[in-house]
Amino acid sequence: ATPTALMVGTGRGAQLGILIKGPEVLESTRRVDTVVLDKTGTVTTGRMTLQEVYAAEDSDEKEVLRLAGALEHASEHPIARAVAEGAQERLGDLPTPEHFENVPGVGVRGSVEGHEVTVGRFPGALPEPLAGAKAGAETEGRTAVVVVRDGVALGVVTVADAVKETSAEAVRDLRALGLRPVLLTGDNRAVAEAVARAVGIDGADVIAEVLPEDKVDVVRRLQGEGRTVAMVGDGVNDAAALATADLGLAMGTGTDAAIEASDLTLVRGDLRVAADAIRLSRRTLATIK
Ligand code: ADP
Ligand code: MG
Repeated sequence: ATPTALMVGTGRGAQLGILIKGPEVLESTRRVDTVVLDKTGTVTTGRMTLQEVYAAEDSDEKEVLRLAGALEHASEHPIARAVAEGAQERLGDLPTPEHFENVPGVGVRGSVEGHEVTVGRFPGALPEPLAGAKAGAETEGRTAVVVVRDGVALGVVTVADAVKETSAEAVRDLRALGLRPVLLTGDNRAVAEAVARAVGIDGADVIAEVLPEDKVDVVRRLQGEGRTVAMVGDGVNDAAALATADLGLAMGTGTDAAIEASDLTLVRGDLRVAADAIRLSRRTLATIK
């Protein structure tokens, strides 16, 4: 009767909007005690929009947005889409970069009108009023990226991404199942903590500023502490972590790379279904025993 019960579990999963790679997947969900949640696109919608533009004292907002929009135009990153579309809307035509390069988890770099331009994380201390503007936006949960021209910080551009309506309830559901939710992101700590607060995750369970290639190490470290880890993600950046986790759950709204690396796919991209999946597998396995 074991295979039959597992097949029934798989069929019930499909009804709930959960695609299961194979019946054996249900087995590995049983011992899961920790659920690592990617932030962007998993807990949040991942659809970012341009918010504020700040300029350094000797520059102006238009120039900051023009250079940022020109460079981000060539990138697929959600931040890049928001900046490029916002810049086009506000300014119209933008210059075409002579050179462009993606730096995963950091930003974009290239040359525009003969100037070296970067948009993304900034390693050093920013001058005022940029430092204050950036800190203020981040405390409120907006992501702030720095625009640099020829090695000098020219301005700050902020983008916002909404927390999905269902995420707070999903976190409550996961806790009710005895699981510990952890928020994992490449984004800034202040932004990550604002999102965590909004969905009810403790600041101590926020792992921020993690480079794409290091997400998998976070999963391994938790496993090394004796935890059985489920990971929920959507991005190319999450694929290795999804494959390494004891249970990988992909958002159906996410990238093919994430879906292929996972054991389960949450078809509608609703995080509450992650809790349904774990509940279903526990019930299915209880039937078998
Ligand atoms: P997440 O883990 O939240 O999906 P990423 O690892 O893709 O985020 O990016 C981490 C950080 O790197 C972003 O918060 C941003 O500061 C910077 N970044 C990455 N790509 C870009 C880009 N195209 N433009 C500007 N900043 C970027
Ligand atoms: Mg993501």
